[in-house]
Amino acid sequence: THFGFRDVPRAQKQKLVGEVFTSVAQKYDLMNDLMSLGIHRVWKRYFVATSGVKRGDRVLDLAGGTGDIAALLHERVGETGSVVVGDINAGMLTVGRDRMTDRGLVRGLDWTQLNAEALPFPDASFDLVTIAFGLRNVTDKQRALAEMHRVLKIGGWALVLEFSQVKPAWFRPVYDFHSFKVLPRLGRLFAGDADSYQYLAESIRKHPPQDELRRMMETAGFARCEYRNLSGGICAIHSGYRV
Ligand code: SAM
Repeated sequence: THFGFRDVPRAQKQKLVGEVFTSVAQKYDLMNDLMSLGIHRVWKRYFVATSGVKRGDRVLDLAGGTGDIAALLHERVGETGSVVVGDINAGMLTVGRDRMTDRGLVRGLDWTQLNAEALPFPDASFDLVTIAFGLRNVTDKQRALAEMHRVLKIGGWALVLEFSQVKPAWFRPVYDFHSFKVLPRLGRLFAGDADSYQYLAESIRKHPPQDELRRMMETAGFARCEYRNLSGGICAIHSGYRV
């Protein structure tokens, strides 16, 4: 079976996205490693290493899931900083919080169930807002970007790590084969769930490509919006400032 999210109404999409992540939460980390051959770890490390985050910063990691990005940020903000992990899915947050608690990471980390479209924080609360492999899943992306802008302090910045449009023409067929043939099979074999991985490939294709996302960030009020491609555009990092 197969579901496309293109035509489903808004409330229904939110529910479907919820189900996808509830069904994959336990296997989520293993699947990331399998699907990307471990490369997602490199992208995430690069994302945080080049984020400009510093000791004492107060950071919000949206769609933080099981906390990969938050753990890396946490190392950098130190005792005087803090990281809030926000995610709409309680299952992902629970897996993340348990894993971090096992590693002794408790202080300076907050886990909050929230919708990125309506953040439960006052204006100007954070130095940095990150969202990694999350914006793609949000129903109203423009609204989420506006919310990210709102909760940033003046001089604060937002970073979006997301799948994007692959650039080299020769690589596209390889990438499509991996997305539509390999991923659903890996999903079926290792997570007993081909649909969620079919959804993954589709959601990547529908996500606004590099220049369009940059324009959306400008529309949301961000200044100095830029992006960098990773791995030939499999992913891109977009950045923008609140000025
Ligand atoms: N950032 C983590 C990482 O890089 O491993 C998790 C990414 S995971 C692919 C996407 C996450 O987005 C899921 O945990 C899902 O629950 C969350 N999500 C989807 N829609 C959301 C929304 N509207 N608000 C907040 N989180 C959302």
